[in-house]
This record gives sequence, C-alpha cells and structure tokens, in this order.
Amino acid sequence: MAEEPCYTYWTVECKTPSCGGLLLAYIGPYDKRRVFFLAQCRPFEVICPECKNGHTYTRNEVTSKNLALEPRGFIPSQSFLEAIRPEAHLEPADT
Ligand SMILES: [Zn+2]
Repeated sequence: MAEEPCYTYWTVECKTPSCGGLLLAYIGPYDKRRVFFLAQCRPFEVICPECKNGHTYTRNEVTSKNLALEPRGFIPSQSFLEAIRPEAHLEPADT
C-alpha cells in the first residue's frame, strides 16, 4: 500500500533525463484544500546531487509536490530561497 503524502514541497525536475525531481523548499503539511501558487520567482540555478550538473530553472518549472518525507532535517535550496525573496533591497543603478 502506498504511503499517504503528508508534506508539501516546492520541486523541479532535473534537466538530465535520467534524474528525478529535486526538492527546493518545504511549504507546509499536506492539506488537500490548499493549492500552492508561486507568486514570483527569478531564474535560479540548482546543482543536482545525482548528476552533479547545475541547471537554470524558471518559475513555470517549479511545481508543488506532496511527499511522505518529513521536513525535519531537510535543507532547502539557498538559490531557490534567494530567487523567491522580494526585490526590496536593490541598490539604485547609479548614484
Ligand atoms: Zn540530475
């Protein structure tokens, strides 16, 4: 019997065809009434632990997935967290 998915994560599929999904960040406990939408995300690079290749991903490639994996001890992708952070502190181009 398949395990119930209990936790929702942001994921992307590695661009190397033989690889699988990469976990980016933990969103929260699985809740079938909630739909997650990534409001903004700049392009970001993730290095795949399996093929060791770095690929660039954009917002449309990020999907939420429900997994049985516990978030305790899970380390999110720093480049993804940077990419979804609002651009509130950009320096002016010239002074
Ligand atoms: Zn890969």
